[in-house]
Amino acid sequence: MPNISRQQRATNACTNCRKKHVKCSEETICTYCASHNLKCIYVNLVKKRGPKAANRPANVFEIIID
Ligand SMILES: [Zn+2]
Ligand SMILES: [Zn+2]
Repeated sequence: MPNISRQQRATNACTNCRKKHVKCSEETICTYCASHNLKCIYVNLVKKRGPKAANRPANVFEIIID
């Protein structure tokens, strides 16, 4: 069984390719950026919403009454 990296590699075009709707070669500096002398930037799109704290139990609040 090959050990495939856990990193999800969905089609992740760089910002320039995304803007221009061209196919990104997804290299450190992709073909498009290299040929256009652009800065190749990849942005990780995380679709998860909300802060991590959302999973906390409800009883974390301390109520101190004198
Ligand atoms: Zn690209
Ligand atoms: Zn690029």
